[in-house]
Amino acid sequence: MDAFTYTGLPARVIFGTGTTGQAAEELDRLGVTRAIVLTTPQQVAAGEAVAAVLGERSVGIFSDAAMHTPVEVTRTAMDVYENEGADGVVAIGGGSTIGLGKAIALRTDCPQLVIPTSYAGSEMTPIIGQTEAGKKTTQRTLKVLPETVIYDVDHTMTLPPRMTVTSGMNAIAHAVEALYAQEANPVLSLIAEDGIAKMVAALARVTETPDDAEARSDALYGAWLCAVCLGSGGIALHHKLCHVLGGSFDLPHAETHTVVLPHALSYNAPAVPAAMDALKRATGSERPARALFQIAEAAGVPTALKDIGMPEDGIDRAVEITLENPYFNPRALEPEPLRATLRAAWAGDTPTA
Ligand code: NAD
Repeated sequence: MDAFTYTGLPARVIFGTGTTGQAAEELDRLGVTRAIVLTTPQQVAAGEAVAAVLGERSVGIFSDAAMHTPVEVTRTAMDVYENEGADGVVAIGGGSTIGLGKAIALRTDCPQLVIPTSYAGSEMTPIIGQTEAGKKTTQRTLKVLPETVIYDVDHTMTLPPRMTVTSGMNAIAHAVEALYAQEANPVLSLIAEDGIAKMVAALARVTETPDDAEARSDALYGAWLCAVCLGSGGIALHHKLCHVLGGSFDLPHAETHTVVLPHALSYNAPAVPAAMDALKRATGSERPARALFQIAEAAGVPTALKDIGMPEDGIDRAVEITLENPYFNPRALEPEPLRATLRAAWAGDTPTA
């Protein structure tokens, strides 16, 4: 066995169907008596349902969470938090809502109870990205790691089929990179492989039958495993490219992950034989990158950067920015192969690996 380092992160996880019903007792466990419920304008009804479960433990709903955690939204939410004398947050939603809860925890160190409704994975990470004056900065601190996470399959039944696939691919990307990141270790590799296998199988079923509750349950379980990979593991070229593309061209988060993943994986494939073996098992395909591409194709979600707002002349700029401040990557980052990879992702070519 090769030497390795494994970092486990503390979290209490409740998984199942109808588990939101346990939110009140979970808040009690955290010692929270006055919680603000956070959500987006699109998920107010879900926020109200949680507030009803919490009863007098809920002192208000703030429903203006927005993508990339803008600090002006956080300031408004902080005003509500302080005016209501709150002592904790309950975030119900995707990565944007969870990001707002983390932003409040960063400023107050309050406990967070999180009910994720997408597969993006923020709930299991000590990472927060915030945007101010158009600039996104990211930091890692245990202050923002949610104390309790309730996974409730019921909430994911409303996730539209296309978002299910792009969000699922976003989750898979976390586990793929955990297999070959600098922080890779045998425990996370087990978690990553099972997470990918569960999500890949579930996405095919949900694409066929969106209200298949068992498939939705497998997808959410897979999403949790993939989220653990993001929280405890590392990232590499794929996440770097997504950060560059999201930041510089304002491309949508989950779609960008969906398009880039098969190509970033093809780039790294020659350098990561053990990860490729795990991915062959997890996808049931000799060409895992192609298998992931085909999941997106079958679901009719974007498979080309040109279709989600990336200009062709942005390819060279994206290569430059990626090379300016690269993350660790198992295969050396060289301008020409990188350009070819981004061009293939831009055009939506079928990946090779
Ligand atoms: P999102 O939270 O922005 O959600 C997109 C839209 O879908 C929102 O309107 C939301 O209300 C809605 N939605 C979510 N779940 C739904 C459901 N079940 N049914 C109906 N509508 C639903 O998108 P996301 O992809 O979940 O999160 C992306 C954001 O999260 C990005 O800003 C990203 O940077 C961040 N993120 C952060 C981390 C981290 O570790 N800090 C990890 C992953 C993602």
